[in-house]
Amino acid sequence: MFHLELFHFPEPFCFNLPVVLTETRIFVIDTYMGPSSIPEIVDYCKKVKGDRKLYVVNTHSHFDHIWGNSAFKDWEIIAHRKCFEVIKSEGENTLKEISEKYPEWIKEEIELVLPNFIFEKEINFYDRDGNVEIKHLPGHTEDSSVIIIRPENILIAGDMVEDPFPLLERTGIDTYIRNLKYLEDRNFSRVIPSHGQRQDSLLIKDNIHYLEELRDRVIYFLKKGEDPHEENITVESIVKFRGDISPFYRESHENNIKKAVKNFGNDQ
Ligand SMILES: [Zn+2]
Repeated sequence: MFHLELFHFPEPFCFNLPVVLTETRIFVIDTYMGPSSIPEIVDYCKKVKGDRKLYVVNTHSHFDHIWGNSAFKDWEIIAHRKCFEVIKSEGENTLKEISEKYPEWIKEEIELVLPNFIFEKEINFYDRDGNVEIKHLPGHTEDSSVIIIRPENILIAGDMVEDPFPLLERTGIDTYIRNLKYLEDRNFSRVIPSHGQRQDSLLIKDNIHYLEELRDRVIYFLKKGEDPHEENITVESIVKFRGDISPFYRESHENNIKKAVKNFGNDQ
């Protein structure tokens, strides 16, 4: 048996939090902004647990994916080695910075809890009727992972895929595009990003389109000796998205241009 229960938290990040039930296990994918932001998840897991083993997966080290880990202290908390290392080395500083910059996001004292089940490339959990694969896939961050559920062929993407477009950090843009193409080739029946409304597999294609356009235009301006910025590479001209772009995503687009310039040539 397989069941996916999707919890949605509209403010402030339009956040999707999937809970996956298999025959013998429960997987909670990311833990959002702290225990008090997700009481319904803990209640739901208690209700459906039965004999199942409980797991949390941290798809990457960003604060909105890990601050609720302390609600699941007795569980196995799975993460890629790099994700574990970033939370360990930068977690407290990030918490301090965000507490100062965005105090309205801090609803309680956040206790950072490190993952305790670390993997390197990928890890598979098999049941009699399917499997859950957790796979390291850099792009959004160096420490990003995705979850693939078979045979339903569902992708839980973390921030590797995002609606309306992906956010760059340190990874080279070509590496990000290559790893999104790997996902695109898998023809998923459903794609669940951590942020946004869309859950169709075309979102991967649209994310690739955005990154390819961004890369090509950045290269074009750099070759001309001009500075690429949000006025000569407008978000509207490269995003396949018909709605309004929120202030958050406008700022993210500006940031993406800067990162694309900075990471230029960083691909392996
Ligand atoms: Zn993120």
